[in-house]
Amino acid sequence: MDKHTAQLHLETSKLMGVDFLPIGGVKPPQTSTSSGSTLDDIRIDHDNNCPHCTTVTGHTQTVFGVGNPNAMLLFIGEAPGVEEDVQGIPFVGAAGKKLDQIITAMGMKREDVYIANVLKSRPPDNRTPLPAEVELCGVYVRKQIECIQPNVIVTLGSPATKYILGTTTGITKLRGTWGDYQGISVMPTYHPAYLLRNYTKKTRQEVWSDMQMVQTKLSLFI
Ligand code: URA
Repeated sequence: MDKHTAQLHLETSKLMGVDFLPIGGVKPPQTSTSSGSTLDDIRIDHDNNCPHCTTVTGHTQTVFGVGNPNAMLLFIGEAPGVEEDVQGIPFVGAAGKKLDQIITAMGMKREDVYIANVLKSRPPDNRTPLPAEVELCGVYVRKQIECIQPNVIVTLGSPATKYILGTTTGITKLRGTWGDYQGISVMPTYHPAYLLRNYTKKTRQEVWSDMQMVQTKLSLFI
């Protein structure tokens, strides 16, 4: 969708009483980092050189990320699980299905956004990534952010939130409040796996409220 079409869509939708819009990716194209690396370059560099993922054993393959390279919205999770390890695609298991539902409820498609993890290889026994592992591999999610230049980042759960925001504060305290990563707005929210384990009205409302704040923020960029 180009900017003119987006504006027409916005005006028509407002007339029809719609108070939020599907976000497709109306953003000046950004396809490389300041040093000229594309997502493909970063993937190759990661797979050959990541000091974490080239040494850990037990994972089948690395899971780099998927989606629109020019996305306005970037989701960052924790690390691949069993399904992701098999398919090489982030968020394809049960948590991924929940994330898909969240994206759909926001009026978007999975292909509109970009999805990555702070750790790109599955930790043994699906354990939570260690901060030292995230430090080593996290360099590459930073490069992905520089390349994509999203308008908004949603961090899913504690490891991603702590790493991206450089904080030790837990997700329960941070969710629903805007943070900043190098000028990009960051919304921390619960990880979909946590949501599934704690499927209460309260947690669902909290995640939905966080996503509504994201929708409102994104609409400012159309
Ligand atoms: N959980 C994550 O954090 N990332 C995935 O890719 C899958 C499950």
